[in-house]
Amino acid sequence: MCNGKLNYDKDKQELICKIDRLAYPIKEGIPVMIEPEARRMTMEEVELCRSQL
Ligand SMILES: [Zn+2]
Repeated sequence: MCNGKLNYDKDKQELICKIDRLAYPIKEGIPVMIEPEARRMTMEEVELCRSQL
């Protein structure tokens, strides 16, 4: 995990680190900031996320 700014994906309930291309799950309102729990994002997903801003 880096100190990059995280993006919140409301639909997927994930916190996204674009630098690492990792999506951390939010379980019962609590972000799980553990790298093994995170989902690896595809380049496409990152691009999509960027365009939403
Ligand atoms: Zn990071």
